[in-house]
Amino acid sequence: MSKQSFQGSNINLVKLHNLQVVLLSLLHESHLSRVQLAQKTNLSSTTITNLIAELIGQRIVSELEETALEPGELRPVGRPRTSIQLEPNARFVIGVHIGVGLFRVGISNIYNEMLYNQVIYFDVGLPAGQVLEQIVTTIETVILASGVERGNILGVGVGASGLVDFHSGVNLLAPNLNWRDVPLRDALQQALNLSVVVDNNVRTMALGETYFGVGRGVDSLAFVYGRTGVGAGLIFKGQVFRGSTKGAGEIGHTTILLRGGELCRCGNRGCLETLISEEAILRQTDQIARLYPQGILAQTLSDKDDISPIERVFRAGRAGDETVRAMLEDRAFYLGVALTGLVNLFNPELILLGGIFSRGQDFFLEPIIQTVSQMSFGGMGKQVRIEATSFGWKAGVLGASALALMHFFYQPE
Ligand SMILES: [Zn+2]
Repeated sequence: MSKQSFQGSNINLVKLHNLQVVLLSLLHESHLSRVQLAQKTNLSSTTITNLIAELIGQRIVSELEETALEPGELRPVGRPRTSIQLEPNARFVIGVHIGVGLFRVGISNIYNEMLYNQVIYFDVGLPAGQVLEQIVTTIETVILASGVERGNILGVGVGASGLVDFHSGVNLLAPNLNWRDVPLRDALQQALNLSVVVDNNVRTMALGETYFGVGRGVDSLAFVYGRTGVGAGLIFKGQVFRGSTKGAGEIGHTTILLRGGELCRCGNRGCLETLISEEAILRQTDQIARLYPQGILAQTLSDKDDISPIERVFRAGRAGDETVRAMLEDRAFYLGVALTGLVNLFNPELILLGGIFSRGQDFFLEPIIQTVSQMSFGGMGKQVRIEATSFGWKAGVLGASALALMHFFYQPE
């Protein structure tokens, strides 16, 4: 836990901090001259010159002669203008997204552009140790397949399901996997001989969007992900907010139905998760299919092609099944109510939706925006932007690699 401190910094920390602002400025602006860098970072031109020389030496940035002029622009007298840019393939990171019954491993460069990835499905009943062995094998396969030299890999970022202690890298509790106190970081570090950092998977998605997606330049952001469970990652001033005991963002366990709600796996009744998780929607779907055995939904469910049950539900809605559409709209309302609570408490600038909420965005987005806009206090719900994630199905793995990039490259601690 990072305690607030007022200690002075020694000279190396100052240099590290300066390096971070330079790297982040280059990530944000793609290329800048030394003068622009000095202006943006408030550092002296001597400091900038020294830092850039060092980064060029490490082949992390390169110098670009600016030959193209804007229309009507005059070439400046004297030295040709040069700009500095990050070398995208200077270093690489591995991202590992652990979901319920599947994990995905990808390798990305310092712009978080994914070169190669692989998805592996596993039995939910499998002991954590066996899943970790499969993750290690898959990481080695992905490194080999990408052709990246091991020496250029900065480390591995892992986004895990459930409660994670960021500082010890332990997955404290993942009820949907039956995992308890799994030492993800130490186990992977030992097996791979690479540095590893671990956080909750939805938090990594929020971090990924903040630095590499539509959240760039946004001060406060919430990423809300739904599949087996429903969780939120909160970002405030560019930093992940984890709460006082690691659990911030458990929006899935907001009580929505005060009476008569279904039992949630957390032990309470009427939680958001019992109303809009994938499983909850599929239960509703079964009822509709039984009620209308000749309906569009029933036909879609018996289609022969190889798509997931939830995609079949969306397909039926898109094909015009009004009962399905009404059911999805009704479910979206509950999420809208929970997001209204989030807006009232946190007042974020941007809310991004991932997982089934993004795959079914044509059903969910409008009713959610309407509910939040109508119900939030003092017009806050009209100001907040609510969108689907810009990363689509890659949100988990790009989030995990973003965690590694921030931790081992842009903002090392
Ligand atoms: Zn619950």
